[in-house]
Amino acid sequence: MEAMVIGGGVAGPVAAIALRRIGWDVTVHEAYADPAGDVGSFVSLGANGLRALDAIGCRDAVAARGTALPLLRLRSGRGKLLGEAARGRVTLMRGRLVETLRDLALESGARLVTGRRLTGVGPGRTAVFADGGTATADLIVGADGIHSRLRTVIDPDAPVAHYAGLWTVGGRSAHRVEPGAFTITFGARATMVCAPTTAGTLWAAQVPSATPPTGAVDHDALAALFARDHGPAAALVRDTEQWHPRTVMQALPGGVPRWHRDRMVVLGDAAHPMGAGQGANLAVEDAVVLARCLRDTSGLDAALARYEQLRRPRTDQMLKVAGANRDAKVAGPFTARARDLLMPFLFRRFADKGGAWMHDYDVEWNTVPATPSPSP
Ligand SMILES: Cc1cc2nc3c(=O)[nH]c(=O)nc-3n(C[C@H](O)[C@H](O)[C@H](O)COP(=O)(O)OP(=O)(O)OC[C@H]3O[C@@H](n4cnc5c(N)ncnc54)[C@H](O)[C@@H]3O)c2cc1C
Repeated sequence: MEAMVIGGGVAGPVAAIALRRIGWDVTVHEAYADPAGDVGSFVSLGANGLRALDAIGCRDAVAARGTALPLLRLRSGRGKLLGEAARGRVTLMRGRLVETLRDLALESGARLVTGRRLTGVGPGRTAVFADGGTATADLIVGADGIHSRLRTVIDPDAPVAHYAGLWTVGGRSAHRVEPGAFTITFGARATMVCAPTTAGTLWAAQVPSATPPTGAVDHDALAALFARDHGPAAALVRDTEQWHPRTVMQALPGGVPRWHRDRMVVLGDAAHPMGAGQGANLAVEDAVVLARCLRDTSGLDAALARYEQLRRPRTDQMLKVAGANRDAKVAGPFTARARDLLMPFLFRRFADKGGAWMHDYDVEWNTVPATPSPSP
């Protein structure tokens, strides 16, 4: 069987590796050549994403490129500790993650064509690319991100992502912070996420704004947003050695109604744009579960239906959490006070048992299906 994967970000290379593990021929078509290296935002992989990578033998290579941060810590801008949990994460630059996953995909025997953008799909599942080239396969996997082209091929009425009231900018700072903790500080006017990594102190400011920002980021104005907050936020901004580009957060709160049609399927942000937090983790999970369904379910259409059936409840639940997280970051002064009062209680509950559904999820790669069936 042959798969064509559109998009060589996070979900694409993982899907390629997982599909190679079940014996498929795979070609990944990626619009851009450069995975961005050290430029771009950082991502943090939680226990669930790391477990999914482990299932297909990729965890160690990814972990080696990042920094393990054993603690997750939440603070208010007034200096109050809102919560702390031993939630091990590996943090690394998104570009490094993509680079590593692409190398692993190539090692697994997948092909990768870069500089190739999907523009449409014609009869007979013929993918058409911006360079005029075409290709066909038994299955087209859309791992083409938040503005997915394959999503609208599958469903021309699919909703589009829109501005979510938050923008983010970050960088690598010379300012040193306590090692070992991934810290989120809900400040009076913006949120600061900070990760002390082997590559330096990485930070990202998340700034609420009713309209998307225009023009260059004013570094002094950004530092001033944190001036009244306790903690290192303002110093992190002031001592920045390398700036990462601004990203405008997008969301699609109602989700994507249709994930597959005629042996075309979407996964990762193409299926459920999540924003910062768990998006990369879910993209990895999706890719492994998709390959597992193709391995264990008789018939391609049935396998795609099974994939959606397994993944939809989890991604819907995570979309709700992502929405609540965004709301907590765009809170006005009154809601912010309520958040700071309630968060310690809610976080304790989440850290104990409430968050198990998120972090303990298993892609069940090694589970033998109840009624083994041949590959489609
Ligand atoms: C600032 C920021 C911080 C984040 N932090 C975290 C975090 O800490 N933890 C976490 O889990 N998630 C985080 N996320 C979310 C995470 O980055 C995404 O959810 C994840 O990258 C989704 O993976 P994906 O493969 O579905 O899409 P992407 O990573 O966006 O990859 C899509 C790929 O498809 C390519 N492509 C697009 N269109 C086409 C086309 N037509 N033809 C060919 N190729 C195409 C793109 O070039 C890209 O390489 C963060 C997001 C942002 C914006």
